[in-house]
Amino acid sequence: MAMIKCPECGRDISSKAVSCPGCGTPISPRSPSQLFKSPGTAAVLSFLIPGLGQIYNGQIGVGIFAGALTIVMYLACLMFLSFDIPNYGGLIFGILGVFMHIFCISDAYKTATKMNESANAAPVVERVVPAVEQHPIDATIQEYESWKQSQGK
Ligand SMILES: [Zn+2]
Repeated sequence: MAMIKCPECGRDISSKAVSCPGCGTPISPRSPSQLFKSPGTAAVLSFLIPGLGQIYNGQIGVGIFAGALTIVMYLACLMFLSFDIPNYGGLIFGILGVFMHIFCISDAYKTATKMNESANAAPVVERVVPAVEQHPIDATIQEYESWKQSQGK
């Protein structure tokens, strides 16, 4: 079990505790700053390097796959453009590459937005605190664990 420092009194407490046993300061089980994904940042990252926004969102597999596919399309486009014989390969793969690139950007934006919405929907400190005040800390941790299981985590 990981230990963290209470922001108020500095005492070492369990990272699973919902409040400090020493001073009663509520501890968020999941810090909002850790959960928050900036949709703008995700979109810009996928614009700079296709798939990077997905990796920023934690979708590493999707990011590598979609990013690699986009880059392969661009490389195929350049390859066809380099041929001496006129052909439509450059145009076709160029359009496919741009299409994949736009998908990476908009998907990164939408996914980050969705992640923030689901993070905000879960009760964090506010709804957990009253139980902390009524029960001993161990009972509160058990309640939090069963709540977490009921959330399907
Ligand atoms: Zn404390």
